Amino acid sequence: MIYTHVCGDRLSLLGFGTMRLPQTSKRPEDIDQAQVNSMVDYAIEHGVNYFDTAAPYHDGFSEIAIGKALARYPRASWRLADKYPGHQYLAPMDPGEIFFKQLKKCGVEYFDYYLLHNVNENSIGAYTSEEYGIVPFFLEQKRLGRIRHLGFSCHGFPENLEQFLDRWGDALEFCQIQLNYLDWSLQNAERKYQILSDRGIPVWVMEPVHGGMLVKLPEPQAAKLQSLHPTESVASWGFRWLQGLENVHMVLSGMSNLEQMKDNVQTFETRRPLTEAETAVVYEVAETLKSGLPCTACRYCCKGCPLELDIPFILANYNEFRVAKSVNIVMRLESLPPEKRPEACIGCGQCAAACPQKIDVPKAMRAFGEALSGMKTWAQIVAERAAMEKARENQI
Ligand code: SF4
Ligand code: SF4
Repeated sequence: MIYTHVCGDRLSLLGFGTMRLPQTSKRPEDIDQAQVNSMVDYAIEHGVNYFDTAAPYHDGFSEIAIGKALARYPRASWRLADKYPGHQYLAPMDPGEIFFKQLKKCGVEYFDYYLLHNVNENSIGAYTSEEYGIVPFFLEQKRLGRIRHLGFSCHGFPENLEQFLDRWGDALEFCQIQLNYLDWSLQNAERKYQILSDRGIPVWVMEPVHGGMLVKLPEPQAAKLQSLHPTESVASWGFRWLQGLENVHMVLSGMSNLEQMKDNVQTFETRRPLTEAETAVVYEVAETLKSGLPCTACRYCCKGCPLELDIPFILANYNEFRVAKSVNIVMRLESLPPEKRPEACIGCGQCAAACPQKIDVPKAMRAFGEALSGMKTWAQIVAERAAMEKARENQI
């Protein structure tokens, strides 16, 4: 197993993410505990020592399942990470109420790693609010020994990451971002990686295979990778690409069965980053998956927009949305006032006339606005989750 030395700790570069655990039925509480135990056994036996959970995973049942599986091993032999779901509360609740419940659910007295979950354009207000005092509360928990290392995850754009770091970067030890060879350019993860590296903040990786997309590649792309390395999985290309990034200290893979665990463990046995030629191949694959609007964020269009819409920001989100619809995109768009969202566009066409890339911006605004109107709002998602949580209170 590859190990990294970070935060004064020795961590396996591969971490077990628990958002997609095996289940015996579709109900979130029906996690296949026997299979989870076997996966944890295999992981520990092969040197994995980092396990990551969060309140929303399996609606809270992942915390219980991983806690049970780990309790069979000495506490000092594994590291457990959990997250404060501040992004899920429209009016953030008392952080203590959630935090102490999480400790209980996981059956631990302290978390080795604890993160503020999903800092983004929408949640940054809550996370930096003096009134809510979220970060000071967790710094106090760290001082009291209930958290060993405090960090955060970020799904925002690079500007959002910088804004949060300007406020709390000195107090937080690590940052988890969505990083893979597709999002390197699609989500501008390269810029986020650079920002964190420049500030000396270690990078933790989530979604290393873009929610499975880089494992289940379309047939021609998968065939290309397999023709180059017939005995290696398509997934291993994504992991080996990450092994080449010096400031990556943790790669979390949300594994769902023992077979995936074995394949990933094998990929992380020794560091074998992609060669230059192999890297060029995965970037070619990424380009074929994107087919987005070629906006360069030059902002020539912005001056003439009568509504002063942030056109490049909206188009960047639209490009991401066309590859995979995600609630993070909905959250980002909802951070804009209604009169600045794509559906506000009046179709005057001034932007298209100014665009050197000849992008039909009004058409894109219309299409994006329509697509978003068919999705649940973040407020609806949160309200549904809260109702579900309440209904299951007795089970947890
Ligand atoms: S078409 Fe829409 S985005 Fe473009 S300038 Fe007019 S209002 Fe702004
Ligand atoms: S002018 Fe075109 S390329 Fe430049 S930011 Fe606007 S849409 Fe993007």
